[in-house]
Amino acid sequence: MSAKILVVEDEAAISHLLDYNLTAEGYQVTVVEDGDDVVLAAIDTEPDLILLDWMLPNVSGIELCRQLRARTETHQTPIVMLTARGEEEDRLRGFEKGADDFVTKPFSMSELIARIKAVLRRTNPSIAGDVATFADITLDRETMRVKRGQRDIVLGPTEFRMLDVLLQRPGRVYSREQLLDRVWGHDIYVEARTVDVHVGRLRKALNRKNDRDPIRTVRSSGYALDETYSG
Ligand code: CA
Repeated sequence: MSAKILVVEDEAAISHLLDYNLTAEGYQVTVVEDGDDVVLAAIDTEPDLILLDWMLPNVSGIELCRQLRARTETHQTPIVMLTARGEEEDRLRGFEKGADDFVTKPFSMSELIARIKAVLRRTNPSIAGDVATFADITLDRETMRVKRGQRDIVLGPTEFRMLDVLLQRPGRVYSREQLLDRVWGHDIYVEARTVDVHVGRLRKALNRKNDRDPIRTVRSSGYALDETYSG
């Protein structure tokens, strides 16, 4: 099954290049050049990933990112932003608004494709169907098995999804609200402190007495996989 990619880029030379190369790579590509059409096109074509230019004439990519995240239909669609800006502050803004990754222009096509594949692997197991690994932790989305080193880890479905979310971007801090959205889904009302309970269970399952805890609690912010953890 080939993934569908919605390309949002107003510069024809770049959008043609993207269309040509991504199609050659086996993706089904839809190109939108006008920022005003993006949300509807995304709802209509149900892409597996949106490649979104930061600099668009009418509406900025970052604003579109916010709009896409606010819609039920596109809430979870991975977004890779194309940006001429490499500044850390812009990246942080982008991640805050829900972008999954950034590629800075000018980019090499092979780098872009590698990043797209990585985001799809993380976010779309039904297409990528594979194993997420971080340090000595592996999570197999097909068999629903989790291991830390050689040890099998038995997780409940909520803890499994939570670990899966954390594994998608080691180091990224997820707020309780973001975890609620990603683990429970945004239509379900769950109290924020429920997140703490399930993080506690996840830790208990993962860690034995002398193990280093791979989950970092960031006070008043949320939780992350500790990117300095190396097993
Ligand atoms: Ca542009």
